[in-house]
Amino acid sequence: MTFGVLVYAVFVALSYHYFFVRHRVEYVPDYRPSRVELATACKWSICGVLGNALLLLPIQLMIAHGWSRLYVGLAERGWPVLLLSSLGAVAVAETGVYWTHRMLHTDPFFRWFHRVHHQFREPNPAITYAVHDHRVSPSAALSPIHICLY
Ligand SMILES: [Zn+2]
Repeated sequence: MTFGVLVYAVFVALSYHYFFVRHRVEYVPDYRPSRVELATACKWSICGVLGNALLLLPIQLMIAHGWSRLYVGLAERGWPVLLLSSLGAVAVAETGVYWTHRMLHTDPFFRWFHRVHHQFREPNPAITYAVHDHRVSPSAALSPIHICLY
């Protein structure tokens, strides 16, 4: 989990530096940096990453113990099944994420889970996982990509 948070922090920092500092005029000319807002987004996003990791831990443990339909050997089912199942997983995941996000914009889900994510004046890379820490995003629990494994 620590490694995941570290990878996330490094990529958020690199992304922020590239788009919002180095090439700000090209990509986000209207962006007005706010240290307070950025620090708040980082705090919520690290809480969100940790919360989602804890929420998904049982699913990951089930996969690790072989309690899923996940396979790692290509020879077992071949390229056509890999290609079709990959496309199917992307279609299911994207559709699920879209509808889960729509649900999060309705009451009471917006108040309970999603308000923090939309509280920021201007978007930045740290906001992606900025969700309530004590009420982790239900999108993780309903993660369509994990449902595809069963
Ligand atoms: Zn939203």
